[in-house]
Amino acid sequence: MAAKRDYYEVLGVSKDASAAEVKKAYRKKALEFHPDRNPGDAAAEESFKEAAEAFEVVSDDQKRQLYDQFGHEGPKQAGFSGFRGSDEVFSHFGDLFADLFGGGFGGRRSDSGRGADLRMRLEVSFADAINGSEREITVPRKQVCDTCTGTGCAEGSRPKSCGYCQGRGQVVHRQGFFTVQTTCPKCRGEGQTITDPCRTCSGTGVQQVESELTIKIPAGVDHGQTLRVQGAGQGGTRGAPSGSLYVQILVAEDERFVREEFDVHTPVEITMLQASLGCVIDVPDLFDEEVEYEFDPGTQPGEVFVRKGKGIPVLGGRGRGDQHLHVKVKIPTDLDSPAIESLRALAEARGEPVADPRGFFEKVLGRKRS
Ligand SMILES: [Zn+2]
Ligand SMILES: [Zn+2]
Repeated sequence: MAAKRDYYEVLGVSKDASAAEVKKAYRKKALEFHPDRNPGDAAAEESFKEAAEAFEVVSDDQKRQLYDQFGHEGPKQAGFSGFRGSDEVFSHFGDLFADLFGGGFGGRRSDSGRGADLRMRLEVSFADAINGSEREITVPRKQVCDTCTGTGCAEGSRPKSCGYCQGRGQVVHRQGFFTVQTTCPKCRGEGQTITDPCRTCSGTGVQQVESELTIKIPAGVDHGQTLRVQGAGQGGTRGAPSGSLYVQILVAEDERFVREEFDVHTPVEITMLQASLGCVIDVPDLFDEEVEYEFDPGTQPGEVFVRKGKGIPVLGGRGRGDQHLHVKVKIPTDLDSPAIESLRALAEARGEPVADPRGFFEKVLGRKRS
């Protein structure tokens, strides 16, 4: 296979092209290389796939960023590695084609028999998304029938050529000067009929099953990203390939780690005295539960400290982002008399005027009385 071309070059747009420009450029390419316009042209199909792949990456903020940063490896690590054929392009973009072409072209090519794609959502904990994990899932899906291996025929029998259309799948009617060709109503275009259907699948060639699958969740996956499991969609009829299963990952929120790209933001609360005198306290860590962190004397509210390389792993094992510790200073509201006295003495020694407690109480009481 030839080396992959630059996606911006494929679409013919500049690196800073807007979403609208990208969409417009893709529409042009997709029209030019659309299989309906280039039947049986393998080179055109290759270009059609290439343009779809480029569009899929460049039109998606996250994939685009990964691509800009890491080239073709970037989106691959995010679980996207292109399309295998134009059928997959159609099933992936679905409604987008109707939108792009105003319904002028058909979406999915008919009669391929390929199984439909399935979509599901999977909730994972924040920790599992960071560390990567595996999840067992059960997918109700149609699978090629075990008994007849997809033929739809009972054991020992074979499909018969359709007598109505003589196996052509099409019937021709004459209407005046015109001949009209339609799909055979008896065999629905198959060209053959099953006389002795398989008892397991009633002749459909597929059966409903609950497939047990193991989903690999890559370390660093972000909320909303979609993983594709090839061949785990609905089974195709009569030996055609299965569709894909698309699993959208929903990452549970964790207030200790607010994600921004590959960095995380962590609020850390320390007291007024700890901020003034400095302290060593435990802060949440992505991998070690908690680690000790030293705050210098005179730490200010709102100050941000960066723990370099302690953020989220970049997909593909290219290091990690940073953790930002955001300091919140808690002012005590539960001081007892001795504590108030010592703070008052401190304020006096430093010449900082503070409220007179008696004057304050009098004011409050006076207000209440009136
Ligand atoms: Zn069967
Ligand atoms: Zn027929």
